[in-house]
Amino acid sequence: MKILKFGGTSVGSVEALRNVKSIIEKEFNKNEPLIVVCSALSGITNALLSASQEALKQNDFSEILKEAEEKHYQIISELLPRTAQNPLLMMVKVSFNEIEDVLFSVKNLGELSDRIKDRLLSYGEQMSSKIVSAFLQSENFPAVFQDSRELIATDSHFGNANVDSKKTNENLKNWKLENQIYVVTGFIAKDKNDDTTTLGRGGSDYTAAILGSGLKADEIQIWTDVDGFLTADPRLVKNAFSQSELSYQEAMEMSYFGAKVIYPPTMIPAIESQIPIYIKNTFKPESQGTLIHQKSEISKGLIKGIVSIEKTCLINITGNGMIGMKGFSGRLFNALARYEVNVILITQASSEHSISFVVSFDDEKKAKTAIYEEFDFEINSSKIDEPQFDNELSIISVVGENMKKTRGISGKFFSALGKNGINIIAIAQGSSELNISAVIERNELSKALNVVHDSLLLSPVKTFNVMFAGTGNIGKELFRQLEREQRNLEENHQIKINVVGITNSREMKIFDNPESDFDLNNIFNTNLQKSDLKEFINSISNKNLPNLVFVDNTSSEDVVAEYSLLFNNNISVVTCNKKGNSSSYEQYSKFKRLA
Ligand code: ADP
Ligand code: ASP
Ligand code: MG
Repeated sequence: MKILKFGGTSVGSVEALRNVKSIIEKEFNKNEPLIVVCSALSGITNALLSASQEALKQNDFSEILKEAEEKHYQIISELLPRTAQNPLLMMVKVSFNEIEDVLFSVKNLGELSDRIKDRLLSYGEQMSSKIVSAFLQSENFPAVFQDSRELIATDSHFGNANVDSKKTNENLKNWKLENQIYVVTGFIAKDKNDDTTTLGRGGSDYTAAILGSGLKADEIQIWTDVDGFLTADPRLVKNAFSQSELSYQEAMEMSYFGAKVIYPPTMIPAIESQIPIYIKNTFKPESQGTLIHQKSEISKGLIKGIVSIEKTCLINITGNGMIGMKGFSGRLFNALARYEVNVILITQASSEHSISFVVSFDDEKKAKTAIYEEFDFEINSSKIDEPQFDNELSIISVVGENMKKTRGISGKFFSALGKNGINIIAIAQGSSELNISAVIERNELSKALNVVHDSLLLSPVKTFNVMFAGTGNIGKELFRQLEREQRNLEENHQIKINVVGITNSREMKIFDNPESDFDLNNIFNTNLQKSDLKEFINSISNKNLPNLVFVDNTSSEDVVAEYSLLFNNNISVVTCNKKGNSSSYEQYSKFKRLA
């Protein structure tokens, strides 16, 4: 038996839902049941959440609800034959009436509990799954709707409920399945009191794995909007590409450290029951996707991915009184656990008089309360210094199971960061050696991800972002050559050159987005500004682009005068301008030193 889970974008448009139908058609073999788990239509969970926040702030939420409601109507009316539309349109109407009623109470009372929030959010999955099952029926598939609250039992930890595996597996054992398609609501469950709970944001993946494990499925397929588990977040790293396979541990580590493509707890039931998980693209079903399973013999490649958590807070506790203080860490982490603070990573100096750890940005306040409460006496008596909180930071991590057998990975990782001038604030390597992490400034994250991705050879091509000075004979000729050689460079040398800015002594142009157009007449004739070399260098440098290079095709002393500024900003210089190397020896040695 197979479990197929379709995410928000996979059920969020008519085009996507038609693909969903073809995928189900291929996978349903009529000799066994097929389980289809659905997320809410894309954007609906967020819309319900923001409507409830508006209600709590006593603001008008009607526009948000109206848009969400319209989205359902539009899909139903385009997807289903007229005769099948009415009951669904009614169902959506009734759902939104109920949602509105609850939100009016929230607004009137000025109170929104997690319990009510879960109840509100659950409408998203209920509506989408009902639409999908009715759509399949209208296409003559033997499909039925199944509410997951009848199957998955949890505790009452609303918003992120813990699954009661015993009760859930009992329910699943007693579930009399026939050879038909069950369209099940993702994300939602219920507690002992029959109150609706949710499994955490992104939790529909988890629903699929819980059902897979309890029903002893042969495989779990997670259908989403990318070609599988990619080497990095494609929104942040353009060169990210799909991995054909990952071990459960690698997938878990990457998702825990920010790869949103799969919800981290999903791997747990899959590991317990040894069920393979496939990540596939609903919009490109023919592409291979990623297989996640027990570590395989053929698992190749050292590094499987570069992941990041954008918003984190580093907490630093120092103090002479900490030396040898028995049970300090135990007290600290117990206090944090009491406040349900999730500690992402920990580094402790061997001197024992400082400890640094990272928590998620949203947990900063709770962490502060926990620490001040627990160490009130020690802080007041100066045994411990005032704790430091820095919340402008991100974590970047390199993940791969084979790293532990190989020397030099951390060297490469840190030198890629260093060469690009990225300051490393803290480092952690788990004892499993599955992951090496660095804490860096948040505004450098995008650059860091790209340089690390490129330099650890994850990218098929290495991208250079180049700023050009000089549009005379040599400048023009370089552009002609780049235009001619562009394909050769990419295909045979795995090098891609982007133009990020161009200047001569009169005019300059800075690109909002890097271009790979080398027709100089074309690129250097519109939107020109009066040239200002310092401004040119500074504003491009502030973009924090990876692998930044300045090409000096002038013969100007003024340009040479800015080499120090370039080197200080970690920008490489390539030049045919003799003046930098042939003027004073003092200047020459300074450049060499800075470079
Ligand atoms: P769904 O609604 O199908 O569950 P999600 O939005 O939860 O989809 O997850 C898929 C998205 O995860 C992708 O569109 C992509 O932008 C993002 N993502 C982040 N990191 C990765 C990664 N390493 N590999 C693939 N996708 C990633
Ligand atoms: N709809 C829920 C969310 O947006 C669950 C999911 O999509 O997996 O978080
Ligand atoms: Mg998801």
